[in-house]
Amino acid sequence: MSDRLGTPLEQPLFDQLTLIGVGLIGSSLARVARRQNLAKKIVAVDSSDGARKRIAELHLADDVTGDYAEGVRTADCVILCVPVGACSTVAEKIAPALKHGVILSDVGSVKGAIVSQVEPHLPNYVHFVPAHPVAGTEQSGPDAGFATLFNNRWCILTPPDGTDKDAIAKLRQFWEGVGSNVEEMSPAHHDLVLAITSHLPHLIAYNIVGTAADLEAVTQSEVIKFSAGGFRDFTRIAASDPTMWRDVFLNNKEAVLEMLGRFTEDLSALQRAIRWGDGEALFDHFTRTRAIRRSIIEIGQDSATPDFGRQTKDGPD
Ligand code: NAP
Repeated sequence: MSDRLGTPLEQPLFDQLTLIGVGLIGSSLARVARRQNLAKKIVAVDSSDGARKRIAELHLADDVTGDYAEGVRTADCVILCVPVGACSTVAEKIAPALKHGVILSDVGSVKGAIVSQVEPHLPNYVHFVPAHPVAGTEQSGPDAGFATLFNNRWCILTPPDGTDKDAIAKLRQFWEGVGSNVEEMSPAHHDLVLAITSHLPHLIAYNIVGTAADLEAVTQSEVIKFSAGGFRDFTRIAASDPTMWRDVFLNNKEAVLEMLGRFTEDLSALQRAIRWGDGEALFDHFTRTRAIRRSIIEIGQDSATPDFGRQTKDGPD
């Protein structure tokens, strides 16, 4: 995979970057922002004592606090790295303390709901530029992050109409600085695209792993023993954070239900092909899907290494 993380900036983009929520995404941003000199000062805000202690031990930030207003007061960029369902409450808490001209962003996996829930709390001197890095793992917490998480991955910006152009450009520079390719689209379009590329695959994984766990004819130990037949690849996705994914489905309801409807129709067609022994239909379908896998590898969004790249997977640094 090509490395888009160049040499660190000579002049930081921000005097103070405040990250609210320092789990997988927040701690990865802290690590890469420090490594690439994207901010003079990094402040971490987290509500849990345990997480704050760990953030300090890992030296992820220059200051760590549980006081939201204090953490954002002098920031020129604030990024919400909390679950989608928590963004509105956090925005309400910090809004009165945000300084004039600050860029406020987030990393939530759903965009329409965040825009409609966060914007009403914000004074008009705050530039709100929502973002979603399409990068992650099934791990959570400050220890799970790593500086190369966003390297060569996409970050989608969904600025509401009329957002200050300079603020959008600055946030774009930030995401490029952490190694991402950046694209802009409307929140509604983002939610539709991600419903099929991310949200539905997670729902399918949660469902298949749940079904296997419930099977009475096949024992639990057999499910685990023979998992290399395909099942284990679903278990990785189905191990993703329950809070994060509950919030994704509750906040991207329409788009997920739309995609689920299409998925169910296509599944019925495959079911019919199996029932009627229509080998040609199955073969054509599987040939088409194999081509999609090839294109993902060609554009560098995965590795062609056998065994799903497990031997050479990028890891924490
Ligand atoms: P994470 O590792 O579980 O971290 C979540 C952070 O949010 C923790 O610092 C947690 O604080 C804090 N938090 C949780 N509930 C909160 C609340 N009610 N109020 C204030 N803070 C709260 O999660 P993550 O994977 O970094 O996900 C964070 C965001 O990134 C989510 O919006 C998710 O949609 C988005 N995202 C995730 C991925 C992914 O693959 N994981 C990819 C792209 C985008 P404590 O320390 O107190 O628990």
